[in-house]
Amino acid sequence: MSLLCECSKMPEFYRCLPNGIKKNLPGVSIFAHFFQGPDELNIDLDFDTLLKLEGRALIAKCKKCEQHWYLELAPEETISEDFAVKLHPEQNWQQFDPVPIKQFLTLLAHNGFGQKKCAWVGCDNYALGSTSICLQHYGV
Ligand SMILES: [Zn+2]
Ligand SMILES: [Zn+2]
Repeated sequence: MSLLCECSKMPEFYRCLPNGIKKNLPGVSIFAHFFQGPDELNIDLDFDTLLKLEGRALIAKCKKCEQHWYLELAPEETISEDFAVKLHPEQNWQQFDPVPIKQFLTLLAHNGFGQKKCAWVGCDNYALGSTSICLQHYGV
């Protein structure tokens, strides 16, 4: 395993969002580390696909260092991944659930919770900082 692989410069997980959406999310610049893809960082990652999952998701392996990744590719099928998580070798890839990490990134993107309650009738959760709905109702 090469210590020089560019994979190691990427965070444990990240999510790239379209620029139009980023503008409205105050947490994206505060927690920029989690919202920059390899393209923006000039990092060149080269993957082998190991397993195609539902939709745009796949399990891939770095060609250089063999780091395993859970990836959801951007619709254009470009190099820039929409959502990526580093997997640990002992993890069961088929059963990997990306939702908790996506929710965490959504919370960061909105810079946490605001002071108002969710606009959904009967929901007692606090709304995300830059919306009127809570994390559960916002979706991922
Ligand atoms: Zn690598
Ligand atoms: Zn709610």
